[in-house]
Amino acid sequence: MFYHYNIFKTKTTIANMQNVVLFGPPNSGKGTLAEKLEVELDIVPFSTGNMLRRLERAGDPHIIKLQEIYSNQGRLIPDQDMIGLVERELQKEIYQNGVIFDGFPRTEPQAMAFDKTGIPYEVLFVDAPDEVLISRASMRRACLPCNKSYHLVNLPPKVEGHCDKCESELIQRPDDLKIVERIATYREDTAPLEDYYFSKLGKVDASIDPETTFLQAIKYLTE
Ligand code: AMP
Repeated sequence: MFYHYNIFKTKTTIANMQNVVLFGPPNSGKGTLAEKLEVELDIVPFSTGNMLRRLERAGDPHIIKLQEIYSNQGRLIPDQDMIGLVERELQKEIYQNGVIFDGFPRTEPQAMAFDKTGIPYEVLFVDAPDEVLISRASMRRACLPCNKSYHLVNLPPKVEGHCDKCESELIQRPDDLKIVERIATYREDTAPLEDYYFSKLGKVDASIDPETTFLQAIKYLTE
């Protein structure tokens, strides 16, 4: 069904670089891990969620509609839209030395479309129990302009309610209010990827502190 898409034209330029796919439930800490891996491995994170929020803020009418109908309700953006958006984003020069995929692929059709490109990659399963995910969602505050996330207790901003970096007002993301729905969506659409990636899956425990998660990830990626 997806074979007719002419996707991922970047194949030839990033095929020999290191690419890492972070896969796991919402709020498991993929974004934080991606930031740490970027520093360690010198490869650029690409969060599909951040891309959608950036396009929404820029006023793209199609994305605004998709966010309203799907993301803000805890559902996934349709595969056809997502694959096209990812393909377009990956044309950018910054990704040419390798990519840490944070939040893509998130369905089997996306994974199959990605595999059709022949781009090599490793997969880390970043997992945490539901109660941890729900607690993190209620505690997270986000700065939309610079995509930085805070935790009210573990990583509070220096000035309450404002981003350390750009001083913008912090918000609770609409989809964090739908964490229960997002977990259900994850179980239905994304968790089957655990079987899909079975033979190449490195598991990291994301229920603990970010540093320990990071060390587990590095151990797997460099072994
Ligand atoms: P995230 O910031 O990764 O938690 O993503 C926020 C929301 O964006 C998700 O709950 C989805 O609605 C949407 N989204 C992000 N990545 C994808 C994807 N690969 N496929 C479909 N929807 C996505």
